[in-house]
Amino acid sequence: MNTDNLFEKEGPIYLGSQLKKKNCSIGIVGVNYDGTTCYKPGTRFGPNAIRLASQCLETFCPKSGKDLDEIKYFDFGSVFLDHRDTISVIDKVKLATQYILINNLKPLILGGEHSITSGSIQALVDKYPNLILIQLDAHADLRNSYQNNRFSHACTIQRCTDILRDNKVFQIGIRSGTKEEFEIMNKRDQLIEFNPGDNGMLLKQKLEPFKDFPIYLTIDLDWFDPSMVPGTGTPEPGGLFWHDFETIIKKLDDFKVIGGDIVELSPDIDPSGVSSIVAAKVARSLIITLDKN
Ligand code: MN
Ligand code: MN
Repeated sequence: MNTDNLFEKEGPIYLGSQLKKKNCSIGIVGVNYDGTTCYKPGTRFGPNAIRLASQCLETFCPKSGKDLDEIKYFDFGSVFLDHRDTISVIDKVKLATQYILINNLKPLILGGEHSITSGSIQALVDKYPNLILIQLDAHADLRNSYQNNRFSHACTIQRCTDILRDNKVFQIGIRSGTKEEFEIMNKRDQLIEFNPGDNGMLLKQKLEPFKDFPIYLTIDLDWFDPSMVPGTGTPEPGGLFWHDFETIIKKLDDFKVIGGDIVELSPDIDPSGVSSIVAAKVARSLIITLDKN
């Protein structure tokens, strides 16, 4: 695989990243892309905002008792994008994910907009044919096409479903979509209701039959309430909060999470910078979760 032009060589890296990928368990990569964003662009600045915000976090996570200092992960930097049409970008994400897998690392992708997820799913399903996809998002993202683009971020879970075919997809806490999208989620029995303060038992119950399956977790930050994460292109009232995220991560402890992404941070929309801090802390949780598996 020719990787000469795969990653940008400059820019910030995530807190505590090793300087060499040898002996690491996780590979971090950014995707500075917001080509299909329909309301407010700016998610292309997400990956580096997460990396910069990570510098203000503690490496210790009291909830899990784990410290990032005990985990070896490598930040490759952001994918070098020579073409900015959606299909080329998704192809690049696939290549980058394949490269991470070849190096025996688990991928943690920092977006960028949500359309990039199908790139990592394409690479992962070759290694894990029985891959399960779990989505945290305000939106269903199940449109077949949006604004004449089948690869828009509003279609990303449908594109992943095309790749995964009969594999299970679970969508947690979705609160916005078309009537058709809600009908699809109900018909496929893949919408897991989750309200603020939920204890996560329904989630655990639904996931139980998939105990030994590899899981990819895609986290669209608009899943959180806009009062907490206003820095996203398509904010949606009525969202979830930090403790809800911790509940879900805790429940996933008993399962095999082998990769994930954090998407849709649009840092410049939130001058307070809190949205970037939340995203960086979500990344810390995901590093700890990925390292366990
Ligand atoms: Mn969304
Ligand atoms: Mn989304």
